[in-house]
Amino acid sequence: MSSDSHAVDAAREAIDKRVGAPPRLVLPEKFEFSSSWRRAQVAPHEVGPSRDAAHFDVVLGYEDGDDLGDHHRVLFAIENGALRAECSCKAWTYRDWCAHVALLYWKWRALNEIGVTNLDTDETHHSRPYWLFVPAEGEEEPL
Ligand SMILES: [Zn+2]
Repeated sequence: MSSDSHAVDAAREAIDKRVGAPPRLVLPEKFEFSSSWRRAQVAPHEVGPSRDAAHFDVVLGYEDGDDLGDHHRVLFAIENGALRAECSCKAWTYRDWCAHVALLYWKWRALNEIGVTNLDTDETHHSRPYWLFVPAEGEEEPL
């Protein structure tokens, strides 16, 4: 039993109470050129683990300022074989993509700085497991 198991249970419980599964992350077409992606890489930020294993506490500023922006609690976890992401900010609500999720994705995939919890196995993945497919918009999962 890992010391994180309680947090994983709490996360799974919170997700189970939802109507419908948490959304699967689909990367927007040409996301590497999006302003969210750029902001994620250049703006000042703080990322910390949340009170459960599925969420991160994210504070992200802007490219041209030292101020840190609003705090967002961002879902970023693996469940049912897919990467799930969700943010409370307006950009996410309208576009299903935002700088906060971009920041977590970048820190995970490019920098290996954060671990993503697999809620089905309690494992923490510091890089993308070979079986995990993160689709880009319009892309079909390979068979
Ligand atoms: Zn956001």
